[in-house]
Amino acid sequence: MGNDSSVVQAARVSYGQGTKKVNADKGLINYLIANRHTTPLEMCEIKFHIKLPIFVARQWNRHRTASVNEYSARYSIVEDEFYIPRAENLSAQSKINHQGRDESKVLNAVEQKRVLEILKTDSLKSYQHYLEMINQDEAGNIVDDQKEGLARELARMNLPLSCYTQWYWKIDLHNLLHFLNLRADSHAQYEIRVYAQVMLDMVKKWVPHCFEAFVKHHKQGQNISAPALEVIKKMLNNEKVNQEESGLSVREWGELVKILNLQN
Ligand SMILES: Cc1cc2nc3c(=O)[nH]c(=O)nc-3n(C[C@H](O)[C@H](O)[C@H](O)COP(=O)(O)OP(=O)(O)OC[C@H]3O[C@@H](n4cnc5c(N)ncnc54)[C@H](O)[C@@H]3O)c2cc1C
Repeated sequence: MGNDSSVVQAARVSYGQGTKKVNADKGLINYLIANRHTTPLEMCEIKFHIKLPIFVARQWNRHRTASVNEYSARYSIVEDEFYIPRAENLSAQSKINHQGRDESKVLNAVEQKRVLEILKTDSLKSYQHYLEMINQDEAGNIVDDQKEGLARELARMNLPLSCYTQWYWKIDLHNLLHFLNLRADSHAQYEIRVYAQVMLDMVKKWVPHCFEAFVKHHKQGQNISAPALEVIKKMLNNEKVNQEESGLSVREWGELVKILNLQN
C-alpha cells in the first residue's frame, strides 16, 4: 500500500498541498529520512509471504512492529524440508566476534563433508521419528490403525531448528527500514541477511526515493559519537590523535578506523 507520493502527501497534509514536482518530492523525502521524521513513512505498508528456517524466524520475530500470521505445526504436519547450508557457507566460529562465524574462514573440504553428512542424516532421522510418533505419513494418512499417534503439537518438539516455517509478515515502511538496517548488515547472521538483501531490492523498486535517502543517511551513513567527532575534527586540523588519548575504547577506535578507511 502506498508509494513515494504517499509519504510526501502525508508530510504535506498540514499545508493542504498535494504532491509537487518530482525533484521537490525527492528533496522532502530526503529531509524526512535524514531528520528521522518517520510517521509519513508509516503511510506505506507491505505484506510478505515468507518461507524461512525456524532458527531464522526466531531472530526475525524479535522485530515486534510487524503483524504476523504463522503456519501452525499444531494444526498441520511439518514439511519434510530442512535448511542445509552451502559448503562455502560452513565457516568456523569467529575469534573476535563471539556471536558469529568468521566468514573468511571456511571449513576445509573434509570437515565440510562431515558437517553436511551430520546435518542431513540427523534431520532425516528426526523427521522419520516425527512421522512415526504422529502415526501418519507425509500426506496425513494413518499408518497403523491400532495406534492413536501422538499429537502434532508434541511430536514437533523433536524436529531441528533447520525445519521451515512460513508466515505472512505485514509491516509499514518506517519499521521495515529499521528491520533492514539491522538485518541487511554485516553484523547480522548470513541466513537472515540474504532475506533482508532481497527485501532491500524490493524496497528499491517500490519506493525508489525513500530507498535512496535511506541508503544515503542510514544504511551507508554513520552515527558518530561525540569523542569520535572530536577525533575527526583534530584529524581535519592535522593534529595528532591516538586511541589512548581519544576517549574511545580500543573497539570504538577500531570501528572508527574502519569507517574512515584509515591504516591505523
Ligand atoms: C546483530 C544482532 C545481534 C543480536 N543479538 C541478540 C542477542 O544476542 N540476544 C537477544 O536477545 N537479542 C539479540 N538481538 C535482537 C535485538 O536485541 C533486538 O531485539 C532486535 O534487533 C529488534 O530490534 P528493535 O527492538 O529495535 O526492533 P522492533 O521490535 O522492530 O522495534 C522497532 C522499534 O520500536 C520501538 N519499540 C518496539 N517495542 C517497544 C517496546 N516494548 N518498548 C519500547 N520501544 C519499543 C523501539 O524504538 C524499537 O527500536 C540481536 C539483533 C541484531 C541485529
